[in-house]
Amino acid sequence: MSNAPVLILLGPPGAGKGTQARMLEEDFGLVQLSTGDMLRAAVAAGTEAGRRAKSVMEAGQLVSDEIVLAILKDRMTQPDMARGIILDGFPRTDGQAAALDALLAANGQKVTAAVSLEVDDEAMVGRVSGRFTCGSCGEGYHDEFKQPAQAGTCDKCGGTAFKRRADDNAETVRERLKAYHAQTAPLIAYYEGKGVLARIDAMGPIAEVRQALSSIVGQVAA
Ligand code: ADP
Ligand code: AMP
Repeated sequence: MSNAPVLILLGPPGAGKGTQARMLEEDFGLVQLSTGDMLRAAVAAGTEAGRRAKSVMEAGQLVSDEIVLAILKDRMTQPDMARGIILDGFPRTDGQAAALDALLAANGQKVTAAVSLEVDDEAMVGRVSGRFTCGSCGEGYHDEFKQPAQAGTCDKCGGTAFKRRADDNAETVRERLKAYHAQTAPLIAYYEGKGVLARIDAMGPIAEVRQALSSIVGQVAA
């Protein structure tokens, strides 16, 4: 049995899940679990799961529940999970949500809160197309909305190498938005039915969204 909070960030690609999850790590000492990051690491490492996921990710579709759950379950056995977690990009299907419930129940836990970041699809194409990250520490940036204080140098770690994701192009983003609406958006009603859903307007600047999210998370993870 653990009282550690389990938070879920829901929202389409570009909604700000990763950006806000990293801030919640700083503000509340929680651990970010991004299945997208885990899958990209598996692709880069050339594991069996990574080889199977690669073309699916490039096409902007969802990787099978089987692969995603195997990767996530493995990560959830690590001791730092006791600090509480922020799930970023998971669950994305009914099957993943049910599997998460079962996984948590086995440990006497349940989802503490699911926060839906509400945004306009069209704005997400611009957000995702302008995204880049520090190659050393993974800090996220944007060509227009979040530039490093000193051009070419990461604010967090001083790194000077940045990278862009292969799937962050306008065409693939539209596929990912379709997958979101068909397979993931229904989870908003699922968590609403469980009485753990909060919705926030995530169209405003990063600092405003951070404030709105902090006031929700502060009630369950202070
Ligand atoms: P997600 O994890 O939901 O796909 P990210 O957190 O990676 O989204 O954000 C996508 C891009 O948009 C990043 O380049 C990030 O810097 C930028 N971004 C995040 N939140 C906002 C916001 N509220 N306003 C403007 N740009 C944002
Ligand atoms: P993200 O980093 O969350 O934008 O995810 C990038 C890509 O990884 C997605 O377009 C999917 O192909 C895959 N992916 C990440 N998380 C999941 C998940 N929970 N279920 C299925 N596919 C996922």
